[in-house]
Amino acid sequence: MKIIDGKAIASELRLELKEKIEKMERKPGLAVVIVGEDPASRIYVRNKIKACAELGVRSYSYELPTNATQGAVEGLLDELACDSNVDGILLQLPLPKHLDSEAAVSHIPFEKDVDGFSAKNLGLLMQHKEKIVACTPLGVMKLLEREGIELQGKNAVVLGRSETVGKPMAMLLLNANATVTVCHSKTQNLKEICRNADILVSAIGKAKFVTEDMVKQGAVVIDVGINRDEVGKLCGDVDFENVKDKTSFITPVPGGVGPMTITMLMYNTYITACKE
Ligand code: NAP
Repeated sequence: MKIIDGKAIASELRLELKEKIEKMERKPGLAVVIVGEDPASRIYVRNKIKACAELGVRSYSYELPTNATQGAVEGLLDELACDSNVDGILLQLPLPKHLDSEAAVSHIPFEKDVDGFSAKNLGLLMQHKEKIVACTPLGVMKLLEREGIELQGKNAVVLGRSETVGKPMAMLLLNANATVTVCHSKTQNLKEICRNADILVSAIGKAKFVTEDMVKQGAVVIDVGINRDEVGKLCGDVDFENVKDKTSFITPVPGGVGPMTITMLMYNTYITACKE
């Protein structure tokens, strides 16, 4: 069994990216837009801006008040879409409840959509012509690649079907020639399906949901979940202590998929700046 060190792999990738960016005459520029005061979103934005500084990416942050109108958010995104200093645009989600995030995201041109959430980027992934892929699933693929884990012909099971994690994750695994099953809250026989997985990716947001009896001997288990356990400690979707010895590779929480997400945001920003 090997515990995949996401923190170490993320630092390696950041170093590689930093070297590439150093060689660029014009540094990539990322605009980060936040609406409202959500404390978790503010921390995420702060960490993203910090990562930009660390890698030599120019960052511009825009803060709109909680009561901002849909028109104000979309107007700002339209301005950034036309701004040649800005290569990538990130709209921090979730937006305050009165706003329509899907409509807002549609104002980010797909070439600048560093989150890969736009309909066009999702469609390109579906056609296996992907350009910018959602950061978390892309981070999982990089972890698998760095560990030399073969995907072709393997049974991959993805728990969760969100637009931001589960669905793009399933499509990436399918594009890599795995045989993919996607499970969700209405899935029947979920335990049996999981037991058949060579690669099990969990992205459901339920603390310690994946137990030892759901994991095949020698499986690769990737835990995307970020939850709090009964004593408030950070944990994933997988019951790590009881599952780990059955696996060939497993990611911990924290220190697994998490550190890859912002690194992939930096990677996507770099890609947006490398225009042909
Ligand atoms: P989400 O939008 O809430 O989606 C959760 C998915 O899990 C849904 O498809 C839901 O099914 C499914 N689900 C819920 N309970 C289930 C159950 N008992 N059995 C089977 N499926 C179940 O969540 P998300 O945004 O994809 O995030 C998932 C987790 O990943 C969260 O813990 C989140 O914090 C974490 N996350 C981590 C990172 C990172 O950087 N590491 C990034 C993003 C998200 P239905 O579709 O049927 O409702």
